Amino acid sequence: MAAKVFQNLIGGEWVDSRSGRTHENHNPADTRDVVGIFPHSDSRDVDDAVSAAKQAFAKWRLVPAPRRAEVLYRAARLLEERKEEYARDMTREMGKVLKETRGDVQEAIDTFYFMAGEGRRLYGFTTPSELPNKSAMAIRMPVGVCGMITPWNFPMAIPSWKLLPAIVCGNTCVIKPAEDTPLSTLNLVRTLMDAGLPKGVINIVFGSGPDVGTPIVRHPDVRAISFTGSSEVGRIIGTMSAEQYKPCSLEMGGKNALIVLDDANLDLTVDGILWGAFGTTGQRCTAASRVIATKPIYRQLAEKVAARAKSLKIGSGLDESVEVGPQINQSQVETTEKYVAVGKAEGAKVLVGGSRLKSGGYEHGFFHEPTVFVDVDNQMRIAQEEIFGPVLSMVACDSFDQAIDYSNSVVYGLSTAIYTRDVNKAYRAMRDLHAGITYVNAPTIGAEVHLPFGGVKSTGNGHREGGIGAIDFYTQWKAVYVDYSDRLQRAQIDTGE
Ligand code: NAD
Repeated sequence: MAAKVFQNLIGGEWVDSRSGRTHENHNPADTRDVVGIFPHSDSRDVDDAVSAAKQAFAKWRLVPAPRRAEVLYRAARLLEERKEEYARDMTREMGKVLKETRGDVQEAIDTFYFMAGEGRRLYGFTTPSELPNKSAMAIRMPVGVCGMITPWNFPMAIPSWKLLPAIVCGNTCVIKPAEDTPLSTLNLVRTLMDAGLPKGVINIVFGSGPDVGTPIVRHPDVRAISFTGSSEVGRIIGTMSAEQYKPCSLEMGGKNALIVLDDANLDLTVDGILWGAFGTTGQRCTAASRVIATKPIYRQLAEKVAARAKSLKIGSGLDESVEVGPQINQSQVETTEKYVAVGKAEGAKVLVGGSRLKSGGYEHGFFHEPTVFVDVDNQMRIAQEEIFGPVLSMVACDSFDQAIDYSNSVVYGLSTAIYTRDVNKAYRAMRDLHAGITYVNAPTIGAEVHLPFGGVKSTGNGHREGGIGAIDFYTQWKAVYVDYSDRLQRAQIDTGE
């Protein structure tokens, strides 16, 4: 069967790229399966999309927010009906197992409902003026055309975190999804269009980072940028945005630690480690890629984790019995192989896994065994650098304080977890772990959409997605004063003395 051909969405119309160039989207579990053919766009397509978004902004910003929110409510219900179909599309294009892609679509549904509710809030405030017969208030204004650049690991949830608060606040958008996962973003936006979103409010331009992402960031009519991806690319995007004084939200990499103390419930901890380290094949920004365990339980814990990791079923995520899918592409699985070699060269020991799978049904995909390293020194690269694959580095520590120091020793600061029954230590960890998220007796993954999501240090530049914090990024405060005294009143001067 011929692969389906998809187009950009510009001004509500499905159109080819100006150049006519395309790229194929492959199933990472079996690259012979072409999921679709997508436009490979360039700056001319970005110009068209920004111009459509700018035109749509003139009207959309004037639609009352509760009416804007009604589109989101309708889309949420449609997405519920389409959940299974879109989860299957996502597993095919991205590789993660069906129960996780269902979760990804569900996260978008949750975001729809949460952000639709904001349509009837978008709270500003009133406050007394220092002058008589004068009122003062602060109201939220939309920013204008917003540019979004997204990664492949949560191809529907992450676009929903950006697009939905943006549009409920009255902005319009141009989004560039990751090259490896264009279909899931298209499915999300198609649902909004089917729910009655006016033409041009969201525009999608498919293509590469340099050819499409950069022109979006550089376009003078794009007034805010929201990016999720690697810290390296985030630095480039943040720098480009700063040149034009554009607000820029960056959500980037992680090297998340899961701390285990002597008194932890070990079986519960092993469940958490398995899910945190190997869920989404380790390709989550919040993945538990380090375990820091106190010495008395370190060996026992490592052996339990290794035994369970060895028994995980690897394969195509479309098979309901599979627990670990492929990695997203050739380069990502090669990165995993590289880090396994680095770990061995550094003197760490592979307790389980350690190899790419290239035969026995795995030859057409990007599969790598879940891998557990022990005897990892905290200074080793496998304990410090983001791998983004199914590799867990287990570090032994002497004390609670050392565990906190080790956790904080990396350049990132996204998610952290601690397993303990000691409430005092749990509270100290909540205070002292330098990260945007801390879990107690739960793994490093599992964020809910109504709480702030993001990190510190090289993970983020201070903004948060999820929750009402997102509204702060997609609106700008305006102070409004109304003087009903019928005379000139001068603040700070007419003090009534
Ligand atoms: P990436 O940085 O390679 O790409 C992200 C996006 O940026 C893609 O759409 C890509 O096309 C685009 N891009 C690349 N170069 C660009 C350029 N020069 N100009 C403009 N756009 C450009 O990241 P990835 O491989 O897609 O995703 C994995 C990374 O994302 C990991 O580091 C992971 O930790 C991070 N991530 C972070 C979060 C978070 O919320 N903190 C969530 C998911 C993923």
